[in-house]
Amino acid sequence: MEQQNTALTSCNVCPRQCHIDRTKGRGFCHAFILPKVALVSTHLWEEPPISGTKGSGTVFFSHCNLRCVFCQNHQISEDGFGKEITIERLAKIFMEQQLKGLHNINLVSPTHFIPQIAVALGIAKDMGLTIPVVYNSNGYESIEGLHLLDGLVDVYLPDFKYWDEEIARAYSAAPNYSNIAAQAILEMRRQVPEDIFDTNGIMKKGLILRHLILPSHYRDSYKILNWVKESLGTETYVSLLSQYTPMHRANTVKALSRKLTTFEYEKVTEYFLKIGLKNGFIQQRSSATSDYTPIFDLKGVEE
Ligand code: SF4
Repeated sequence: MEQQNTALTSCNVCPRQCHIDRTKGRGFCHAFILPKVALVSTHLWEEPPISGTKGSGTVFFSHCNLRCVFCQNHQISEDGFGKEITIERLAKIFMEQQLKGLHNINLVSPTHFIPQIAVALGIAKDMGLTIPVVYNSNGYESIEGLHLLDGLVDVYLPDFKYWDEEIARAYSAAPNYSNIAAQAILEMRRQVPEDIFDTNGIMKKGLILRHLILPSHYRDSYKILNWVKESLGTETYVSLLSQYTPMHRANTVKALSRKLTTFEYEKVTEYFLKIGLKNGFIQQRSSATSDYTPIFDLKGVEE
């Protein structure tokens, strides 16, 4: 507990390194000390090894350490909608997902609450939690933060959003994003070196890397796929997302103010195959609609 408390009273939980005391003030992410959750739901539309047939138990955390201009979940990431709960309640929420018979617990945008989540997972494991824990993040992680999760997370599901420094600066105020995300993903791979599935194809341990193809930037996607091949190998599971829809402040940026074209989508999917990547999930372009954005209504958050 001591390590977790130190991280929060001079917060260095993520690469922003705000060094703010979260019992008194707020850093870049705007999160205070208690975990804040906006929705607990059964998700049927994640990648097949995550959602399977019974669904994934998504726990959507409020606030965010990246706050992208095009965020589809801006109601919780930027506006901070959600309810603060105790760490004990968070542990019970994890147990409730197991009791529902879901395949896993899916922590969505958890980065700024890593210390609290680590404690809650420890409590839940003592209570009998056995289903896999999926860590579903934006990839902007510190190695120190990830060390707190070593042995507690079974499946890492990080984004790799941008390669180019200027794109990362313009859309997420994080010019060092690609370097940070690359190091973080290597640490995730170190913690879960093998991809292991059950007989129904549900991932029990492993890494699936997500990349949202952005309009006007398909060449940036090539650079990320090149890094995956060179640093993680051609067997790496990669999920290419084509659901981009201009939302939040995206319409203030010309390059982001439209959906992806078929040309851009095909360029990236063809490049994926051309460089010899073997394990991909490719989202249908028909999912590029705001209808897929969850409704945040605190369901499942309170006892
Ligand atoms: S978790 Fe929040 S307060 Fe802490 S370093 Fe990151 S952005 Fe700053």
